[in-house]
Amino acid sequence: MSEPTATALPVTEPLPVPAPAKLTDVASLSREKLALFLSEQLGERPFRAAQLYRWLHQRGATSFDEMTDLSKTLREKLKVKAEIVPLEKDLEQRSIDGTIKYRFKTRDGRFIESVYMPAEDRKTLCVSTQVGCAMACSFCMTGTLGLKRNLTAGEIVAQVHAVNREVRRNENLETLRPLTNLVFMGMGEPLHNFENLKTALAILQSEEGPNFSHRHITVSTVGLVPMIERFGQETDVKLAISLNASTDEQRSQTMPVNRKWNIAALLDACRKFPLRQGRRITFEYVLLKGFNDSDADAHRLKELLRDIPAKVNLIPYNENPGLGFQTTGEERAEEFRAILAEAHVAAYIRRNRGRDIAGACGQLANRGEAAAEAPT
Ligand code: SAH
Repeated sequence: MSEPTATALPVTEPLPVPAPAKLTDVASLSREKLALFLSEQLGERPFRAAQLYRWLHQRGATSFDEMTDLSKTLREKLKVKAEIVPLEKDLEQRSIDGTIKYRFKTRDGRFIESVYMPAEDRKTLCVSTQVGCAMACSFCMTGTLGLKRNLTAGEIVAQVHAVNREVRRNENLETLRPLTNLVFMGMGEPLHNFENLKTALAILQSEEGPNFSHRHITVSTVGLVPMIERFGQETDVKLAISLNASTDEQRSQTMPVNRKWNIAALLDACRKFPLRQGRRITFEYVLLKGFNDSDADAHRLKELLRDIPAKVNLIPYNENPGLGFQTTGEERAEEFRAILAEAHVAAYIRRNRGRDIAGACGQLANRGEAAAEAPT
């Protein structure tokens, strides 16, 4: 019998080290998924999920340590397996009209912005859904950035929590949720980040969370036709469409998406959209001087919307130096509105909020992104 040969130990090779466990981003989980995470990963009972969820989404907690009614042991367990990804307020700009524009920095050093617009009867927040945008509309500042990445559901919701905190402090309010309305008209194309948008909406509408009513949330899209159908089937919030033109030629010139889904395809999706009783689709129309603001445009627009329950928001253009478009004057905007009104198309000229602070989406974050990307 021969002696077994001793195998030399591979002393020079490092021992395999398990990859560090990825922490679960708990604020991005729906209520159901959070319950699953707690039971499967931490062996906790379902009511703990309700407690944690309320801390995250009713109070907008930013650390486990502040969740004082959770046991110390559970908080420690959470820290081992989970994290609350920070969204840091980086800059704010206040307009004389009360609008406040917040720039937030994501953990990976990206910039997004949210715009707070208080009015007598409501406090509205304009929310971002992506860093940058892939849609490349030629009049839009965010469009010039290209798409950097999607925001997570947690990052979408964190904008709402952060601004609720700001408003509570600034206006000395006790209420946990001073914001009353949300519009998804910030940076990015919401329907291009549909799964995260859906989770964020479910959180924002949940009773154990911020509890926004579906009547007080509007999602605006550039016109991603197949997604409009899904949006109608899978959510119950309001729809706005950025039309911004009265002919395909015009629209394709400023909105590349129109080359894929033209006005006819877009309006067809709108006609099929499941509207709740009494609801209308909002059509946004950014008035660009000498480009889409003629009488003929107004007449074509009214024809396009003839058989759709529609409301038109005429938006004064917030000029972006270098993009080559100008704002339509007030008088022309009013004449345009009157043509629609005569044809019984409800049209409103939006007040230009925060004009003195470059209130249009992307104008502030763009500077941050440009700075972040500039060679140092
Ligand atoms: N991607 C979505 C939401 C973000 S844009 C969408 O296209 O609807 C939100 C609205 O702001 C759109 O109607 C867009 O046409 C408009 N917009 C973009 N840049 C603007 C600017 N500089 N001034 C005024 N409105 C602008």
